[in-house]
This record gives sequence, structure tokens and C-alpha cells, in this order.
Amino acid sequence: MKVIAKDRIWLSPPHMSGNEMKYIQEAIDGNWVAPVGQNVNAFEAGLEKHLKCNVAALSSGTAALHLALVILNVKRGDVVLCQSLTFAASANPIVYQGAVPVFIDSEKTTWNICPNALEDALKHYARKGKRPKAVIGVHLYGMPCMMDEVLFLCNKYGVPFIEDAAEALGSTYKGKMLGTFGEMGILSFNGNKIITTSGGGALLSNRSEHIKKAKFLATQARDEAPHYEHSQIGFNYGLSNISAGIGRAQLEVIDDRVKRRRSNFDSYYKKLKKFPGISFQNEPPDCFSNRWLTAILVDPEISNGIGREDFRLNLAKENIESRQVWKPMHLQPVFSKAPYFGGKVSEELFEKGLCLPSGSDLSKLDLMSICKNIDQVLT
Ligand SMILES: *Cc1c(COP(=O)(O)O)cnc(C)c1O
Repeated sequence: MKVIAKDRIWLSPPHMSGNEMKYIQEAIDGNWVAPVGQNVNAFEAGLEKHLKCNVAALSSGTAALHLALVILNVKRGDVVLCQSLTFAASANPIVYQGAVPVFIDSEKTTWNICPNALEDALKHYARKGKRPKAVIGVHLYGMPCMMDEVLFLCNKYGVPFIEDAAEALGSTYKGKMLGTFGEMGILSFNGNKIITTSGGGALLSNRSEHIKKAKFLATQARDEAPHYEHSQIGFNYGLSNISAGIGRAQLEVIDDRVKRRRSNFDSYYKKLKKFPGISFQNEPPDCFSNRWLTAILVDPEISNGIGREDFRLNLAKENIESRQVWKPMHLQPVFSKAPYFGGKVSEELFEKGLCLPSGSDLSKLDLMSICKNIDQVLT
């Protein structure tokens, strides 16, 4: 019998809207094959309208975080507090600046930065007379962090809050877009995010001077002069006009993409909630998650010893990609010497958590076969 290889079901693949080629073609026809041009302008304007804040389109989310730290004057030896349960890109820019990353545990509801652990850290550094230069919080898988509590603490201790909203475009807290609450926020348009430019990112702020500064720094910090004049160190962090063309077309369908990702979550929830030992990331009142990725927690003590890895391996057998929840930064070899505040919540989420295929182009049939596969492991 001939076995036909089934197409791989990816965790979160790019999903084109159909208009991408139109904007790319315009860029090529106008010969704006450069890090400036109409697509960059229109993409920024579209994001500003959608988010109701100032936006600089950049080459990546990592670059946006790096610029946020530069703008906040983070320097060698400074302390920056950062959510531990996240992708390494949230923390790496701290080290680019020679600053010291200090990691903070998560709380169990949203899986994001724990206000209690954050306050412990803020108190600790206040006692030492060393005020942290920034707090970086993350909206993991699109879920808003405990915004009121976190902003209250940041205000109380006089530390600017940077929102890593790389995974959270389209999510809101009390009806307001994530990424627009902190001193600055960042987005990512990497290929796996809810919309993509293939690679790209953005810096967000309610303060126009931050965004003006970001655009200056992102284009090699060139002073106003007929020749090349520099009075500070700059970066080449601009977004390509070709990539921005993809972004324009993607932004046109953002509402649809949020709807589809949320619908994936609903399907998984309906099918899997009945199994003892399986639970989901909660969406508290006031919070609206784009449900970028649906992740389940599997507790082997309740599920007859079946764990997250049993599901992952059985899915892999059918060419279905799933992935463990982010490994906390304080457990990463590269950050083994970094201070850490909190308990074992992020560690436990890492041990028990599994992200399921969550692409906005996932078909009903795909969803059914994934749930059937999970069912097989349990029964
Ligand atoms: C994707 C991601 C980033 C980095 O964005 P890039 O555009 O890939 O540099 C940062 N933080 C989080 C939480 C992410 O998921």
C-alpha cells in the first residue's frame, strides 16, 4: 500500500491575506527597494490608527526592545527586571547594554509577571539604593499580564514599564490595545506571529519623543547636516520597504486573524476540557487575548501519569508540531548567574505546558485530527 505523507501541521505558520504581492509589486515598480518608502510609511500609519499610539516600524521585535532600553538610558551595571517565562529575545537586549537581567516569576492565572515577586524585587533594590532602570513584562501567548497591579508597582517605585507585546497584537486590557500601556511597548512581525512581515517589529509609545528618538537611532543616529555627522552611536534597525508591504496586507486582516485564533482556542477548550488533568491559560475579566497560541497544562498526577511529552510525541508521529511552553530564563544556562525573584510557578508551567497548533489557517479537519490524536493518548 502506498502511504501518502500527510502535510505537516505547524504550530503557527505565516498566513497570507492575498494582497501582499500588490504592495511588494508597488515597491519594486517605484524602485523603493530600500528601508524607506511608501510601504513603511503606510504600515506605520496603519499601526498607529489601529493602536492609537505612536509607532516606529523596525527590523525586529528584538531591535525594538533594544532601542527601548537605549532610550531609557540603560547602561553597564544597571538592573533591569524581566519576566522569566518568555522567549530569550525579551532578555537578550538587557545584556546588549551591559546591564544585569533580574528575572521574575509568573503568577498562575495569566502565566505572566507575578506582582508579588515583582514587588519583592523592587523592594530589594530600593533597600540597596539601586533603582532598576526598567521592568519588562510579557503578554504570553497574547494574554494580558496583571496590568493594573504591575503598573501600580512600577509607578510606586518610579520604574518605567516596557511591554513585550510581541505575541499580543490585537489583545486588549479594559478595551485598550496591549503595547500601549507602558512607557514603551514592542511588537514582533516574525513569521510565527499573528501577523508577519517575514521578519520585523515595532516600537510603540504614547510619547512622540520616544518614537522620534527610535527612528533616529534606527537609522545610524545621523545628525542634521549635509555630510554624515554623528554625535552618538546608532543602529541599522529599519524595516525593509518590501517587508513593510507584506505587513500592510497583513494588517488589513488582523481582526479576522484574532477571531480565528480565538476560535481555535474555543475548539480545543470544548474538546479537551472534559479530560481530568488538562487545563488552559485563563482569560480574566477585563482581559481579551488574541489567543496567539493555545497552550494546555497537563498534570500527570491527575491524568493517570500521562504527561505533556506523551502528547507531543504522539502528535509528532502524525507530523503535527506542538511545543513545550517557553523555558524560563532563570533556568537557561546562559542566565544561570542572574538573580531571580519568585517561586516555582514558571518552572511548573514549563514542566506541564504544551502549545498546540494554533495557526489562523488551521482547518476544522486539522483541529479534529489534533483533538483525536490527543484523545488517543488519554483513552
Ligand atoms: C517573538 C518574540 C520576540 C522577538 O521578536 P523578533 O521579531 O523575533 O525579534 C520577543 N518577545 C517575545 C515574547 C516573542 O515571542
